[in-house]
Amino acid sequence: MLTGITGQDGSYLAEQLLSRNYEVHGLVRRTSSTQRVRLDALFHDSDVYDKRLFLHYADLDDTTTIRRILLKTEPDELYHLAGQSHVGASFEIPETTCQFTGMGTLKLLEIVRDLTKQPRFLHISSSEIFGRPDVAPQNEQTAMRPVTPYGVAKTFATNMVRLYRDSFGLFACNAICYNHESERRGESFVTRKITKAAAAISLGLQDKLKLGSLDGKRDWGYAPDYTDAMWRMLQQPTPDDYVLATGKEHRISEFLDAAFKAVDLDWHDYVEQDPRYMRPSEVTQLVGDATKAQAKLDWTATTTLPELAERMVMNDRKLQEPQCVGTPND
Ligand code: GDP
Repeated sequence: MLTGITGQDGSYLAEQLLSRNYEVHGLVRRTSSTQRVRLDALFHDSDVYDKRLFLHYADLDDTTTIRRILLKTEPDELYHLAGQSHVGASFEIPETTCQFTGMGTLKLLEIVRDLTKQPRFLHISSSEIFGRPDVAPQNEQTAMRPVTPYGVAKTFATNMVRLYRDSFGLFACNAICYNHESERRGESFVTRKITKAAAAISLGLQDKLKLGSLDGKRDWGYAPDYTDAMWRMLQQPTPDDYVLATGKEHRISEFLDAAFKAVDLDWHDYVEQDPRYMRPSEVTQLVGDATKAQAKLDWTATTTLPELAERMVMNDRKLQEPQCVGTPND
């Protein structure tokens, strides 16, 4: 069972679980739109959809419905990936962020606590819990000092998962994930915004790219590597928390270099700064130490930043090429 199955990580994890012969269930929000682009390939596979992949309507705060679905489906593993995941947006909608990212996790833990047949539980936590840490790189022992509403909400949820593991004996784990990107990354995150723009500019569909602060650095990995680690976490004999990261810190300008280089352009000619994308506060020095994941899960993040950027730009070019049919003035 996955919450957030329509998101970047949910869609990769669903594919990986199906390829390992799991029956996969997903909770989806009830909206009038049935567009679920990331799951398209699975939907249109008649051997998969409604045979080995099942979707159930439930909002994260609808505990009655979630309980009913969990009682009916009796999952062995529950991956909790849903939530408001945009750090910048969390400054605009802090209450919604805490309601879904923080309380949504507690509500799920409460339901699992009451089940006779309890699934193994994985919560996707975030490097944002460390905020502005004293040490770099960070590991599972590093103190949590969040500086964004999203980070505060994730800190609450992460601590609750630990508490339910220690106090109520749940098989509950935190995957403390550093930034992980892919062709399926939401378009408002900086990496995807850059790769989409680099592709559009190279195709003559866009002139400029407006960004906020370029001072930030991130530990950027490739999302499918991270969902594979999440699965490995739930196969361990005991529940635990793991940092998932590449251990390499890169500037936003390095990602710009790599993305624009993939289409033979120089980003300095196109990027403008726009105060609209500046944040009231920024995390610093977030770089992860995944030694424990390597030792216990036999896991390392293998995709390098230039590979990641190139893969994303090329995919964005493919998605936008159809728009180039005809002359630019059509
Ligand atoms: P985050 O680590 O989850 O906040 O990932 P983001 O991709 O949203 O942001 C990464 C960094 O890029 C942050 O330091 C942002 O301030 C910075 N950044 C600069 N310009 C932009 C922009 O236009 N959009 C976003 N989302 N981030 C930007």
